[in-house]
Amino acid sequence: MAVTRSIVGASPRPLQLVLDERTVPGVLVKPAAGGQLTCLACAHGCVLAEGKRGICGVRRHERGELRVPWGYVAKKYVRPVETNTIFHVRPGANALTFGLFGCDLRCPYCHNAALSQALRDDLEGQPLDTTAEALVEEALGAGARVVCAAYNEPMISAEWVEHIFGFARGAGLATALISDGNSTPEALAYLKPVTDVFRVDLKGYAQEQYRKLGGRLAPVLDSIREAKRLGYWVEVVTLVVPGLNDDERGLGTLGDELRRIDPEIPWHLNAFVPRYRLQTTPSPSPHFLASVAGSAYARGTRYVYVGNAPGMAALAHTRCPDCQRVLIEREDYRVTVTSVAGGGCPNCGTTLPGLL
Ligand code: SF4
Repeated sequence: MAVTRSIVGASPRPLQLVLDERTVPGVLVKPAAGGQLTCLACAHGCVLAEGKRGICGVRRHERGELRVPWGYVAKKYVRPVETNTIFHVRPGANALTFGLFGCDLRCPYCHNAALSQALRDDLEGQPLDTTAEALVEEALGAGARVVCAAYNEPMISAEWVEHIFGFARGAGLATALISDGNSTPEALAYLKPVTDVFRVDLKGYAQEQYRKLGGRLAPVLDSIREAKRLGYWVEVVTLVVPGLNDDERGLGTLGDELRRIDPEIPWHLNAFVPRYRLQTTPSPSPHFLASVAGSAYARGTRYVYVGNAPGMAALAHTRCPDCQRVLIEREDYRVTVTSVAGGGCPNCGTTLPGLL
């Protein structure tokens, strides 16, 4: 049986060096002028001279090869798939969720900064060496029906994620990327054969907002369009952060944009809670979130959810958009009641989209 092993007990060394030892040659790369390499894993498109590493901190040019992460995770849990804010994929099922270190963005409110910003913040960390077989075995042993790559940006470790997802799919598990969407057509196409779900964080409606996070809005919208075109099941999360993106009209334009792509893309409006570098920023008003959600629904978005908002638990339920019957009830990101029948509404027969 394959075993997951930690390196606890090894003499402490900078995390960067420990991770550099756990790399293989990547495939999401192409040659650039003067012997440089262009990384294709995310929309930054880093052009790397010999010895240089990308913005994410985990992909680097070494002797003509792009070395990329392989053979470890930073953290893994088995929890309901809904805890990844995925509501239309095997509702109520357990998911094995894993993540690594590093990120292509630097959001000041990151929920997983201890992993995603570990290299920028020079934090200590311990990779857990593992194999794809061991992770899938663990998922099956725990009764999971989904495997998710989350916590940090999975596209920066696309080759390793693709390997794990290949085994997961072979074992009958659904697979999901929980991504910031700062992706490329090449990376999305590369992962599509082994991936079911692209769960995207759409973090703002203006370039100025994305600049504060270290990214750009356009590639994220492009990735959502491309993922739909390729046949991924797509769900979108917008964390509403006071002082960053809590403008009703601006959020309305995001809803418009998503509807233009597909009105059946579920849109989750989640309330920010203080964390990482935004410890004193308050949470947004639950009524504000309900108002944005109500407006999006009234304008044609078929599935809108509100999360992390006290007193708004009913807005985390799935309703039939045609007859308004509640199909799935949730409490704190767990399914409590489901009345889906034949893949849809037992009252009017409307099909519930997703991977049920
Ligand atoms: S994944 Fe993105 S940030 Fe990392 S090296 Fe590639 S292009 Fe640069």
